[in-house]
Amino acid sequence: MRTESRFLLLYGSQRGQAKSIAEEICDQAEGLGVVADAYCLSQKEKYNLEKEIAPVVFVVSTTGDGEPPDTALAFVRGIKKKTLPSDHFEHMRYALLALGDTNYSNFCNCGKTIDSRLQELGAKRFYPTGHADDGVGLEIVVEPWIEGLWEAVRKALSEMSASGQERLDQAETDPNGYVGKQDEPNTDKFGGDLNIQLLSLHDPVPGLSDVGPQREGAGAEAGAAYTLLTRSQPPVSESSLSIPTLPPPFIDVQLLNTSPQEVISPFSLPHVPVSRAVRLTGEGAVKTALLLELDVSEHQMDYQPGDSFDIHCPNSCAEVDELLRRLGLSQQKSCSVQLQLRADTKKKAAQIPSYIPERCSLQYLFTWCLEIRSVLKKAFLRSLVEYTSNPAEKRRLQELCSKQGSAEYNSFIRDPGLCLLDLLRAFTSCLPPLSILIEHLPKLQPRSYSAASSSLSHPGKLLFVFNIVEFPACAERPIPRRGVCTGWLADMVSSVLQPSGGVFVSLRPSSAFHLPADPTVPIVMVGPGTGVAPFIGFLQHRYNQEAAFGETWLFFGCRYKDREFLFREELENFVARGTLTHLKVCFSRDAGDGEELGPKYVQHNLHLHAQQVGNVLLKQNGCFYVCGDARNMAKDVNEALIEIVGKELQVDKLEAMKVVAGLREEKRYLQDIWS
Ligand code: FAD
Repeated sequence: MRTESRFLLLYGSQRGQAKSIAEEICDQAEGLGVVADAYCLSQKEKYNLEKEIAPVVFVVSTTGDGEPPDTALAFVRGIKKKTLPSDHFEHMRYALLALGDTNYSNFCNCGKTIDSRLQELGAKRFYPTGHADDGVGLEIVVEPWIEGLWEAVRKALSEMSASGQERLDQAETDPNGYVGKQDEPNTDKFGGDLNIQLLSLHDPVPGLSDVGPQREGAGAEAGAAYTLLTRSQPPVSESSLSIPTLPPPFIDVQLLNTSPQEVISPFSLPHVPVSRAVRLTGEGAVKTALLLELDVSEHQMDYQPGDSFDIHCPNSCAEVDELLRRLGLSQQKSCSVQLQLRADTKKKAAQIPSYIPERCSLQYLFTWCLEIRSVLKKAFLRSLVEYTSNPAEKRRLQELCSKQGSAEYNSFIRDPGLCLLDLLRAFTSCLPPLSILIEHLPKLQPRSYSAASSSLSHPGKLLFVFNIVEFPACAERPIPRRGVCTGWLADMVSSVLQPSGGVFVSLRPSSAFHLPADPTVPIVMVGPGTGVAPFIGFLQHRYNQEAAFGETWLFFGCRYKDREFLFREELENFVARGTLTHLKVCFSRDAGDGEELGPKYVQHNLHLHAQQVGNVLLKQNGCFYVCGDARNMAKDVNEALIEIVGKELQVDKLEAMKVVAGLREEKRYLQDIWS
């Protein structure tokens, strides 16, 4: 009987990142002669951890306020059961890669929860846990983590093979002994020979090929504007390169000349008209904020203030056209796209992406299904090398996906957020087939927005506010652009702000970010800029309710009072009518106009009212809400809150942090933040 060098790879993905990292691990494993049985954590029928005798590798992301991704919810719930004995997973050897974002609270919480629970249940780590931070770039941790994984897997396999043999021996006499997965014959798994062979780290690794230096004329024919991207320079240009394994192709595409079945709507979602559009910022504002009103009266869309919803937006028409032109596919844009798995693919668990409908047109595929703006990953660059004819360009692409070119990849691709179109503009001899793009471009994700209205004030309507996201040109990315969704919405309502067209919307699952059920509970709301949106909904709601309310604080901030004070009139009216007890505003760029310098940012204003805020939270059991920018504001506000709690309770920072963590747990400190 033959032994496979097999391990189980389980992923829990919300937006596809954990899945694509798991796929990368699978592909690398393949190149190393190891079999990774990869499954989503939700595919419970495919694996059985209670009886798993191979190493297990987990890749899990975290979503929302530290929640498990939807696909991992049942799994996490299952392992948290209090009835499980402390030796439940004693047989398990595992490694775990947790994905998170330090811009959000509870960094990598899902991974940490699984990790500590597995330990409590007796499982042993065979490799240190990785915590990758999307805030600075997942690959900083992911790449070295995967690199080190192979040696650890090799060791774990050989250690487990010994104990596996014991279990095998036992199984021959023990009718309850387990060998292999239940749905497969025992002999398919660890058969007689349990000496698992893996390539030693000193053996040549098939995953990394050596490419010699080639300096002459590097980048010479590349698009002039992208010189930083296309120019090979020492030391990378003089170095031998270790480049990733070529991801195994797995999709065959056919373009059929018949017109595709007409797709009436891209989603089975409400398509709602935009009934009003207002520019909230004045001339000269740094960012343009727009308020849109959606007419949802024809649809069953019950929402509460504090809820958010998704807008399913298309990619920019101009970019789709340019891409099709560049790929030589303009004439075929109405052709129907037929996808099939390649019969000979070496990719494990290859699947046709579920988000591409059958027989959609080529134009539809690029407009509604693929995130064509996604930042180029190294695996994608590696695949593009194969379709680049100019040797200098080919070498440069190899450099950018190589281990030696990591810093250049970060500076010229990751940080400026370069996408496929940027690369095709710069590397003029690169002509990838459609199949490669479908394999590498992720799903076009909807964008979320917080409701800025209460249905009590606006029956049948859903309002939201957004800043038009601008990415000005820079040396690394010479062509400026706007955010996919906000750019599209801004174009839709056009220069005269005439509402036209409609949007596909879906409500997001309700979170805890709601007004307290008891109206007498006092609340503190912190929402600078567009972060004020849900609080407008809160206040409208309260204005329409007959009840005795607790004290209500709102901390708002922006750069300039005259241009960016969103909802000024409405907020001042709320104060005049007593719906809002305290409105505290600050303007970060208004210094030097003769006025006395006030607080610049919301956290400064919080400090100025530390005692009252402390009272609301610590003495009156109040709630503290924060909405808006996750990168800076939410962190600064969190720091301020810890200081306020420390000061008010006269405790040190550690103790104050515990109190703040307690507030979070009690759902009295709630965040709705984004970056
Ligand atoms: P995108 O095209 O998605 O670009 C924005 C992001 O892409 C940037 O954050 C950046 O990370 C990356 N990026 C792309 N290109 C580059 C580049 N060249 N350089 C650097 N980075 C790049 N927004 C609001 O305005 N109002 C709200 O009420 C609101 N509520 C939200 C609620 C929730 C629960 C969440 C998760 C988000 C919310 N957002 C809100 C954010 C919103 O969903 C979008 O992210 C935002 O509007 C930008 O979308 P976009 O498609 O225009 O930009």
